[in-house]
Amino acid sequence: MGECLVVIGGVAAGMSAAAKARRVDPDLEILVYEKGPYISYAACGTPYLLAGDIADYRSLIVRTPEQMGQDGVTVHTRHEVTAIDPRGGTVSVRDLESGREFAQRYDRLVIATGARPAPFSVTGSELPGVFGLRSLVDAQAIQGFLKEVAPQRAVVLGGGYIAVEMAETFRRLGLDVTVLVRSGKLLRTTLDDDVRALLEDEFARQGVELARATPVALEGGRRVEAVLTEDGRFPCDVVLLGLGVRPEVELAAAAGVALGPTGAIATDAGMRTNLPEVYAAGDCAEALQLVTGEPTYLPLGSTANKQGRVAGTNAAGGEATFGGVVGTMVVRAFDLAVARTGLTATEAQALGYQVRSTMIRAKDASHYFPGAADIHVKLVVEAGTDRLLGGQIVGRRGVAKRIDVLATALHHRLGISDLQRLDLSYAPPFAPVWDPILVAANVAAR
Ligand code: FAD
Repeated sequence: MGECLVVIGGVAAGMSAAAKARRVDPDLEILVYEKGPYISYAACGTPYLLAGDIADYRSLIVRTPEQMGQDGVTVHTRHEVTAIDPRGGTVSVRDLESGREFAQRYDRLVIATGARPAPFSVTGSELPGVFGLRSLVDAQAIQGFLKEVAPQRAVVLGGGYIAVEMAETFRRLGLDVTVLVRSGKLLRTTLDDDVRALLEDEFARQGVELARATPVALEGGRRVEAVLTEDGRFPCDVVLLGLGVRPEVELAAAAGVALGPTGAIATDAGMRTNLPEVYAAGDCAEALQLVTGEPTYLPLGSTANKQGRVAGTNAAGGEATFGGVVGTMVVRAFDLAVARTGLTATEAQALGYQVRSTMIRAKDASHYFPGAADIHVKLVVEAGTDRLLGGQIVGRRGVAKRIDVLATALHHRLGISDLQRLDLSYAPPFAPVWDPILVAANVAAR
């Protein structure tokens, strides 16, 4: 009997692990169990599917079970792993279609169970018209509801990046949109207040109402009709829950897999857990934050794919390590792109760093070039030193490329004086002769 790799979860991390393991060891038997109906799809594209930018949900699917089968990876959709027995080297599996339960032997195991929406259990949260957005199935349910009911008013609960993307989606579909956030702040843990103000101005400009409110109940009959909060009633025909996610770790924890300080699965750089031959990757796992040197929980597709690849390599007998994260993300909010990497000033101060911050406003292209627009760059520097701790950028164009410069700088521990010397690209349509990153570094160096 040959060696068998079992992968639990078939989206970004799980399928990256399975595909990579196949390439490393052509003889390994590889089985993937996914409890949902789809595998290997881009959840990140679902807000744009709903907005109509993407016409067909099938273009979000990277690989089908049939295609994986042709590559020698056996995928079982609608199969849930209900228990892991690390001593016996087996997983218990339930076929969700037939109800059949069986045990499957493994030699190596990759846990890629992802994340689930943060709990939300106020009265009325089960009403039709109340949706989370985590999977392609969720997106299809929202799409069906939008078509059938043609809602006029949306309430988005929460202020994370999915809430921001869905506020934009609903607005572009012509709905009146109110975003209710407990803290009253969009991207509260992602941005500093001065940078957030630019995002909130854009929301106001686009006619999205933002309110500080805590929902206490959802009202309705056949469908949701209003969100009740301590401060008032917000009528609506559809509610999107964007309250963040939690790592899906119950299955792993019950089997004795150790969790880290963030509550997600702790791994080494090879994505190994504390149990022999058991790996974890993606939204269920922690990542090393390179700026602080501490584990962090930043569930993103960019990380899930890389961690999955590392887990798959090692599970198949190869050798790979995951290099850690610096906390880079970018989100579109109507006409703006908003990005951050490293630590915000608020985060850095909370961690005990003395910081000084610089925020500059420049143009994203040569000032004379048609369409040149404002771009804001904030650098967070350790006081009394040259050390870059983080950056935030808001603008219309060229935001993602510039945050990636700062992310690269953080990966390689470049200081402000190094940033000042970077040979960045220049041509009038793309950047001024002094790129905004260089301008920010020059100001930070003063
Ligand atoms: P998941 O995608 O959660 O997949 C885990 C899978 O495991 C699930 O399908 C689940 O059904 C299955 N599973 C769980 N338990 C079991 C079990 N016991 N048995 C069998 N199967 C099980 N990231 C970015 O970097 N950039 C973006 O712009 C971005 N936008 C996003 C927008 C939206 C709307 C969403 C929802 C996410 C976005 N993300 C983005 C995050 C990104 O999609 C996730 O980080 C990524 O999907 C994580 O992949 P994963 O495989 O770790 O977990």
